[in-house]
Amino acid sequence: MPVMLPDTAPQPLTVLTEEEQMFRDMVRQFAEETVRPLVMEMDRAAKIDPDLIRQLFALGLMGVEVPESMGGAESSFFTAVLVVEELSRVDPSVGVLVDVQNTLVNNCIMRYASDAQKSMYLPRLASEVVGAYALSEAGSGSDAFALMTRAAPVDGGWRLDGRKLWITSGDEAGLFVVFATVDPDAGYRGITAFLVERDSAGFTVGKKEDKLGIRASSTVELIFDDCRVAAGNVIGEVGRGYKIAIETLNEGRIGIGAQMIGLAQGALDNTIRYVREREQFGRAIAQFQGVQFQIADMRTQLEAARLMVYNSARLKDAGKPFIVEAAMAKLFSSEVAQRIASNCLDLYGGYGFTKEYPVEKLYRDAKIGTIYEGTSNMQRQTIAKYVLEG
Ligand SMILES: Cc1cc2nc3c(=O)[nH]c(=O)nc-3n(C[C@H](O)[C@H](O)[C@H](O)COP(=O)(O)OP(=O)(O)OC[C@H]3O[C@@H](n4cnc5c(N)ncnc54)[C@H](O)[C@@H]3O)c2cc1C
Repeated sequence: MPVMLPDTAPQPLTVLTEEEQMFRDMVRQFAEETVRPLVMEMDRAAKIDPDLIRQLFALGLMGVEVPESMGGAESSFFTAVLVVEELSRVDPSVGVLVDVQNTLVNNCIMRYASDAQKSMYLPRLASEVVGAYALSEAGSGSDAFALMTRAAPVDGGWRLDGRKLWITSGDEAGLFVVFATVDPDAGYRGITAFLVERDSAGFTVGKKEDKLGIRASSTVELIFDDCRVAAGNVIGEVGRGYKIAIETLNEGRIGIGAQMIGLAQGALDNTIRYVREREQFGRAIAQFQGVQFQIADMRTQLEAARLMVYNSARLKDAGKPFIVEAAMAKLFSSEVAQRIASNCLDLYGGYGFTKEYPVEKLYRDAKIGTIYEGTSNMQRQTIAKYVLEG
């Protein structure tokens, strides 16, 4: 006889609410029917189809947590994570576009911007404007707060000078969250976050990187040369940008975990179909125990990674501490995604090495997960600090 639990009993992590289920089904259908046919061409062209971006806005996927009064879907962080997972199952480049928009840019504005900034920018971010998040520079990656982009006070606002590197969605973006220092001698206490519009005087989007994976996602350099930003475009307080960056990235890396579990699921789905069809020695290769065990190991690792990602996202929504869980989820899911994509490619044999099958692309795409939003070593540093220092 089943035990009756009170309504307040914790739910299993993978049991979805009606709203979560609805979002997931809608995104899954969209990804299969609309994104999948475009994936290989977007990878080849190194560009996300602009019409696809318009559809992402129309479906409400670019403003998942944005309040309905500002044109968003007013759903949870967990829902945003599900959306990124489902899109990444089909194309991790589309996944990261939606991830940066929701978990970094919108999130940063919703948490730290003034009411005036929110009403100015959130309706546009939910409906038509792609956002980008610009922290990294050529000389400051893991050591992000060694950044050199300078913000100096001028009449009516600020003057920005410097360069940013590796900025996701920078080619498409109309709005940039930019971190600069108002006082290099003050170290991290000088760092300040600014909202910079693409048509700001003195701002240009520079070179686009030619990458191994997530090729359709643009990764660009940003150049600030006497770039003028209004006083009203500082996010939060001057000198508090480091806190904004740390806190948004703590959340953002759960989104990268979601991108990685989606990617791994996509690779596995394709491979399961393939091993059932491909015959060697007179039978489907899925009938060999050696292959079955590899599939079982991959599915088990993916389950563990998914539980870690879902738990971090649900902790965040519940207002509980989640930083170390998010670091572990990002570390583990990105390494699992690399292993699964590699193993899947092996199971395709020679065909896996060609562009005829999707695993070749997913194998290339998987590599980024251990690098951006904090490398695996940086996640280990966070985890070790919590474990050793409490
Ligand atoms: C495709 C792509 C998209 C990106 N998108 C964005 C974006 O939208 N916005 C943004 O701001 N940035 C973005 N980045 C930048 C990304 O976050 C950085 O590349 C990343 O943080 C690593 O910095 P780095 O490349 O300078 O490497 P480095 O910091 O130079 O690291 C090199 C190696 O040294 C190791 N290392 C460094 N310090 C330590 C240490 N103390 N202990 C142990 N190991 C260490 C690292 O783990 C790594 O293996 C993107 C990068 C890429 C490639």
